[in-house]
Amino acid sequence: MILPSFQRVPCLFLRKTVQFLMIIHMKQKNRKYEQFPKELTEILEKNHRDSVDSSVCADCSGLCCIQGGPGILENVLFIYEAYERGELVRRDYAFETGLSLPAFVARYFDVCFMPSSSGSLVLFYVKTLTQNGDLVSWHAIDSYGSKNPELIDRLGKSAGCVFLDRKITEWPDGEPGESRNCILHGPESNSCLTEKPVYCTFYSCVAPFEIRKPDVALATAWVDALAESYPDSTQRFNNIMAENIFS
Ligand code: SF4
Ligand code: SF4
Repeated sequence: MILPSFQRVPCLFLRKTVQFLMIIHMKQKNRKYEQFPKELTEILEKNHRDSVDSSVCADCSGLCCIQGGPGILENVLFIYEAYERGELVRRDYAFETGLSLPAFVARYFDVCFMPSSSGSLVLFYVKTLTQNGDLVSWHAIDSYGSKNPELIDRLGKSAGCVFLDRKITEWPDGEPGESRNCILHGPESNSCLTEKPVYCTFYSCVAPFEIRKPDVALATAWVDALAESYPDSTQRFNNIMAENIFS
């Protein structure tokens, strides 16, 4: 009788360990995201009215992601947690491993400070991958590249946001019929604050490939509501960076 029960111990132990790890994993996967506050939800609904639905996006080559969109501090902290759990995975590019939070931010984002009616809001523009596999700042292409084809040639042309699941190979038109996804997108991204940058959530198309021209009043209301809903982001960001600078 002793032998069978002894033999079962490691099995039971392993089973329990695996079960425990699975529960932890599921908890992480089933993270409870917070709903956007009412004001942000109302602005989103206005900006998404008459927009294409997700089935259209699923068939699109993802040209909206030719440059990385900006997110807020909360997005970046979620993204970094996903990175630490090894969940940031794309098909044709490996994220550098072992980065501290400040190094991760410096590697994958451009940080800028946006004035708002409720103080400064810190925004994180996701960097863009080039066809050569380099990471570049969004404004290098947006501000200078469009006026300087030589710079584009040197950069190797945009292959899209670094958080797309694979490169856009035919820049700037995309490959008709090809689809690709944002690896930060999840089922709750349109209603809750998740890893997906808030400006990418805000963005919409009125028809396939037909980007909705941003309504200036709505875009300004969006910045102000973000700064009010997630206050003191500049100070919080500076504190987090100071605490983690030597990690
Ligand atoms: S370009 Fe427009 S239709 Fe295509 S994935 Fe982006 S939002 Fe959807
Ligand atoms: S973060 Fe996602 S939605 Fe935003 S630009 Fe990058 S791939 Fe597109």
